[in-house]
Amino acid sequence: MIGDVKKTALGLLLGLLWTCAPPTRYAPLPPTPKPRTEIALIKGRYSGTVEACLRALGLPYAEFSPEAISGDTLRVFRMVIVPYLSEPSDSILDVLEAFVEGGGKLMLFYSLPDRLAELLGVRRVGYIRREYEGQFSEIRFGKDRPPGFPKRVRQSSWNIYIVEPASPEAKVLARWYDLKGRDTGYPALICSPAGCYMSHVLLEGDLDGKVLMLAGLVGHLFPDLWPAMARGALGRIGKVGEFTSLEALREVVAANGGRAFGLLRAAEQLRARAAWDIRRGRYALALLSSLKARNKAVEAYAEIQPSREGELRAVWLHNAFGVADWGWRKTAEVLSQYGFNAIFANMLWGGSAHYPSDVLPVSERAREEGDQIAEAVKWCHRYGLEFHVWMVNNYLGSRTPEEFLEKLRAEGRLQRSRDGKELPWLCPSHPENRRMEKEALLEVVRRYPVDGVHFDYIRYPGAFACYCDGCRERFQRDTGIKVKHWPDDVISGPYFTEFQAWRREQVTRLVREVSREVRRIRPDVKISAAVFSNWTTARFHVGQDWKLWVEEGYLDFVCPMDYTTDPEQFREWVLRQVEWTRGKVPLYPGIGAYRMMDGEEVLHQVALARSMGADGFVLFSYSPRVAREFFPLLHRGVTKSKTSPPHRWDWASFRLPEGLRYSCGDSIGAEVELDRLPKDVRDFRADVVLE
Ligand SMILES: [Zn+2]
Repeated sequence: MIGDVKKTALGLLLGLLWTCAPPTRYAPLPPTPKPRTEIALIKGRYSGTVEACLRALGLPYAEFSPEAISGDTLRVFRMVIVPYLSEPSDSILDVLEAFVEGGGKLMLFYSLPDRLAELLGVRRVGYIRREYEGQFSEIRFGKDRPPGFPKRVRQSSWNIYIVEPASPEAKVLARWYDLKGRDTGYPALICSPAGCYMSHVLLEGDLDGKVLMLAGLVGHLFPDLWPAMARGALGRIGKVGEFTSLEALREVVAANGGRAFGLLRAAEQLRARAAWDIRRGRYALALLSSLKARNKAVEAYAEIQPSREGELRAVWLHNAFGVADWGWRKTAEVLSQYGFNAIFANMLWGGSAHYPSDVLPVSERAREEGDQIAEAVKWCHRYGLEFHVWMVNNYLGSRTPEEFLEKLRAEGRLQRSRDGKELPWLCPSHPENRRMEKEALLEVVRRYPVDGVHFDYIRYPGAFACYCDGCRERFQRDTGIKVKHWPDDVISGPYFTEFQAWRREQVTRLVREVSREVRRIRPDVKISAAVFSNWTTARFHVGQDWKLWVEEGYLDFVCPMDYTTDPEQFREWVLRQVEWTRGKVPLYPGIGAYRMMDGEEVLHQVALARSMGADGFVLFSYSPRVAREFFPLLHRGVTKSKTSPPHRWDWASFRLPEGLRYSCGDSIGAEVELDRLPKDVRDFRADVVLE
């Protein structure tokens, strides 16, 4: 009798365990209607991370510019998110105030006008710039945090507003901690029934942490949105690269086997757990599992990317002194470790240089810290990287010494806009400017064993320039045209076409002359340019005729700056660029990694570029975050084994019979050796010119 009771109890217990244990098989959730758009986002600077979080949560939102909001437009929304608002007008504040008074919630970052502070029950007591490295490194939530919030979120901020709750209902939810894990005492997040305030903007990095934090905030203000967020994140797990579901990814992964399969299995199990938690109403837990599942799926996707032979894998680096405080040794070492093979480093501007130049003013820092080209080339070559010296042409930036600027001004060498305003750009038609830029690049090529010279800003700033007196004079001299109404006659008047052609030639001439001279001095040095994505519009707006530079052979390869987070836009751009460069020079699209929050975006664009026939890629730009978040993912597949860039490859050789005599129209036989072609080349075209 007693034994039976025991057995029953044991059976009951086992049964309970059985029903409580999360399943390993995914049971799809019954479909629900698409969530309504209830969030308005004021788009602008620093809105990228907020947008990435909303996308990760599958929360639909409508975008507005600050000027576009009104009581009417906001009426249909429950929440307004303001990622950054610089000096809002009174009318914008009126609208936001009325919105909150009408029951709407406000999520505000950093900028805190008094009227909004009052609405949110927050008081601003000061401002602090970080006093030591890593002072504001982490947003940490207290033990009493509302459900769904993460413990901590990483973000390295350089300044914050010092704030405190100003009403009994406002509560500090999180504070800033430093790199050593010490509490700075400064509030990071304050919430009240009217909304939430964060004392800095939401920066990139630690996307998962930020997604959880944003979900926590949204869920805190609107608990009824939790199911939609949990389902949204679940629905996104398998949307990786060109794949639309985990099942589709599985098919390809299964064919690949290896580590990718284990990662995919992990993603599937986490997804099963997430669905199971959603069924039980445990949305925050489900969200966490979904984010983990997606990371596994992205890793699996990274694993199945092939490591191609004969491909440029490069980065642009804006800082002439290496990445952050790494110095050139570490900068080169890290890049090489992750399978990259080239770097484009910005060493010259229109008005300054980071090496002891005889042509351009030397930057103060380079005078103190020494010759950066020498240092960079040394370490890049030691780590097997090509070093391309990147020059910002024409544009002067902010580093030009005042006295040099004064000299340029006095000599009439600066650009002027249509209405006569001076611009911080060198006028490309001024012979002295052209000579200076050319001599600077030739000086570099003579002195240093660089592998290439790379043009950037090789254009006008826009259609609004340059209409300086010098341009007028030189245009008339070169074309023999007498312009009656300058500049109207050349902008939209009778000489539009002639002026456009002349204007383009001013930019092209520098490319042509540098290319010719560099090849004479050092034939092994490659000439390249960072150019606008759309050649057809760039040749008019900014006078950048880069397709011509490719066709005329001035460039050895070209890098269009295809910076977008929209894969469809990227695909469209590359598709046309392939047409414009096909068979002439290698095409290396620039990928805007700085705008991407998610490693999947980088992987996807690399895959797209490859599938459309590009010959490599360049990431913009090399930073600690890009290295930390994206390099390891790329190294799982894309850059796994080393290779050299195709502009160095001697892929085919031709042999003609000895003593051959031929005349026009003859057919002649030649022997072509293709042994050195990379294994995965699918088609091949060659033009043989007999001279
Ligand atoms: Zn000019």
